[in-house]
Amino acid sequence: MTPNTPRVFESVSEFIAFRKTISPDITIGFVPTMGALHSGHASLLKKSASENDFTVLSIFVNPTQFNEKSDFTNYPKTWNEDLEVATASEVDFILMPTYEQMYPDQYRYKLSENDFSKKLCGGSREGHFDGVLTIVMKLLNIVSPNCAYFGEKDYQQFKLIHDMAASFFMTVEVIPCPTLREDSGLAMSSRNVRLSGEGKTKAGLIYKIITESKLASEASEKLTSHGFKVDYVEDYYNRRFVAAFLEGVRLIDNVEIK
Ligand code: AMP
Repeated sequence: MTPNTPRVFESVSEFIAFRKTISPDITIGFVPTMGALHSGHASLLKKSASENDFTVLSIFVNPTQFNEKSDFTNYPKTWNEDLEVATASEVDFILMPTYEQMYPDQYRYKLSENDFSKKLCGGSREGHFDGVLTIVMKLLNIVSPNCAYFGEKDYQQFKLIHDMAASFFMTVEVIPCPTLREDSGLAMSSRNVRLSGEGKTKAGLIYKIITESKLASEASEKLTSHGFKVDYVEDYYNRRFVAAFLEGVRLIDNVEIK
């Protein structure tokens, strides 16, 4: 059976009005994204579709979580393909709000966390997680899902959102989903399109090196010797986290420490 095309909402108020018409015994799964969907996103959407009556996908490139304006403006936009991925992944509703709708206060109010968000990606991307937590809180309030799905590829983000939900007594269940990888081991990411073919193969070394090295410092040295510009390799919560540049592209990954 061919899946139905999702219903698209470009208006937050229309979505909120529609949300009120859904009976409380219907379960809703939610997957927030910035679009440029790939198989990693599709795996979250399919998990949500298999565990809930309805799945809501949001596509919003959130300016408050970008440090580099060019990174924000160059963020890939692939609407036609996104709609295909969403349809094939059995998404029911897509929410695509504008900046004005999401930030009627011009970011006067924001949410921040004062410990783990300052480490790893938070160390080199000031205010990044304030932007992430703020937009996720807004989206969760709009969508009011039973479950929300986040990729372990961005484990620091998952952990911060998971703990935010607990801290604020939110009823949503924040669910982690495993990282989808290319055959080379490279974690799938919307940013990978900026790598050359050779770069994509070489980037597979990140996963191999952080998995095989005994110490974070050893992994960092090995990556440097292979031509990566390492931002960090550090261990927290029984996981090893890495951010490294290749061909000017910032790549992140993490693995469980066995
Ligand atoms: P993004 O559009 O990059 O903000 O990602 C939206 C969601 O998809 C986040 O929860 C990401 O962690 C998740 N995601 C991105 N890439 C992957 C991947 N390779 N495997 C699993 N989840 C992913």
